[in-house]
Amino acid sequence: MSAEQKLTIAVIGAGIVGLCTALELQRDGHHVILIEPHEPGGRQAASYGNGTWLNPGSVLPMSTPGLWKQVPGFLLDPDGPFIIRWRHLPTLAGWLIRFVLAGRTWQQIETCAARRYELNRTTAQDHAALAAEAGRPDLVRRNGLMFVYPEQAAIDAEQQSWRLRAKLGIRFRKVETAELRERVPELGEAYRFGMQIDDGAQVADPGAYCHALLELLIRRGAVRKTARATGFSLNGGRLTAVITESGAVPCDRAVIAAGIGSRDLALKAGDKVPLISERGYHVVIPDPGFDLPAGLMPSDGKMGVVMTPQGLRLAGQVELASVSAPPNWQRARILLNYARRMFPALAAKADAVAQTLGSPNYWMGHRPSTPDGLPCIGAASASPDVFHAFGHGHVGLIQAPATGRLVATLIAGRQPAYDATPFSARRFGGVV
Ligand SMILES: Cc1cc2nc3c(=O)[nH]c(=O)nc-3n(C[C@H](O)[C@H](O)[C@H](O)COP(=O)(O)OP(=O)(O)OC[C@H]3O[C@@H](n4cnc5c(N)ncnc54)[C@H](O)[C@@H]3O)c2cc1C
Repeated sequence: MSAEQKLTIAVIGAGIVGLCTALELQRDGHHVILIEPHEPGGRQAASYGNGTWLNPGSVLPMSTPGLWKQVPGFLLDPDGPFIIRWRHLPTLAGWLIRFVLAGRTWQQIETCAARRYELNRTTAQDHAALAAEAGRPDLVRRNGLMFVYPEQAAIDAEQQSWRLRAKLGIRFRKVETAELRERVPELGEAYRFGMQIDDGAQVADPGAYCHALLELLIRRGAVRKTARATGFSLNGGRLTAVITESGAVPCDRAVIAAGIGSRDLALKAGDKVPLISERGYHVVIPDPGFDLPAGLMPSDGKMGVVMTPQGLRLAGQVELASVSAPPNWQRARILLNYARRMFPALAAKADAVAQTLGSPNYWMGHRPSTPDGLPCIGAASASPDVFHAFGHGHVGLIQAPATGRLVATLIAGRQPAYDATPFSARRFGGVV
């Protein structure tokens, strides 16, 4: 395709990845049709309820050396940050084996981290620019992010990760106890040190942000089709339409950006991708009575602790179970336990929220996760006109702008600034 050719492109899924991709395609002059059955950025989307962290330093995949030793613990410890629901183990086993194998050596981790960093590098600037374009600069807070630790030994235990970040040029600094107390006076004595990522930022309200991006897209001429995509109409391998539950949507190209819904669509486009849901939870404590200077993450709870317009959001937990299994709100209770530990003065408010298990203050969502910690970005096997843009796991908010740029670059036939082949869905060898 010549760089000037203007196409009609259907973007399937209007979570943060679909929205950012649609905006990049519009910049190239294409006509965009957004296919989404629900409210874009609504509660069904991972993009609604996440931890809001824009951390360029989120370069480590979840699977790291020695993790396999912890798997039995994940099955048994009901209060830890990770849990595998026994009943679902048989269907998850294949993914888990690939997951453990992907993180066997630090050499693998280093390679993976460098690839992830290509997509993370400019996340804060990118989102700030998008929020400004959408007329909501207030939605991206560029105040940095801070991991908080109970003791020096907990920092030491993560030395390898920090060394890797330093090697990639990610800037961070240690925050000593006195400064931590001064910056976050509400933080309990249990946490004594911080590691600050100055280039980190936070999306103040991800649902509202998705909305603002949607409105920007519509103002720029995008069309919404409220429908669920079910497949593709191909003629000699070339795309003629996206099939939806309410008819065909004729188009020249299509992008699969349907989060956890992408697995079935990818299969229709010729790629069998091991994509599962790493289910996560959030709970909100309304009116906490203070603000935070930056998003926090306790090293033991491994959760985003962030201020949102709705209140203090605690977002985390990894629960491996099927997509359709009902939420287990006890997982969100664990988040409240960490909140009590972090902010002793919030204990009564946390208790009150704990009495309303499953109320709108609670949320469960699906991280669309591949076993190797990299998303699938690139042309599908069944057609050069269908593109993958999914599988971002824990970092889809961070990586959405760069994903959008890469998809637009590939559709235009331009040369990407970095090697995009590691993101190909074909790496899993599941061409159908
Ligand atoms: C608890 C938790 C905390 C997290 N914290 C962070 C964080 O701090 N930072 C970060 O970067 N990431 C974080 N993430 C991950 C991040 O939220 C996801 O990676 C990201 O939102 C994925 O975006 P998406 O657009 O691919 O998917 P989604 O946001 O899930 O959007 C997919 C959309 O596709 C639609 N769809 C599905 N099937 C179809 C179909 N067949 N046809 C049409 N449309 C369809 C859905 O309705 C949905 O609206 C977190 C996730 C969780 C669960």
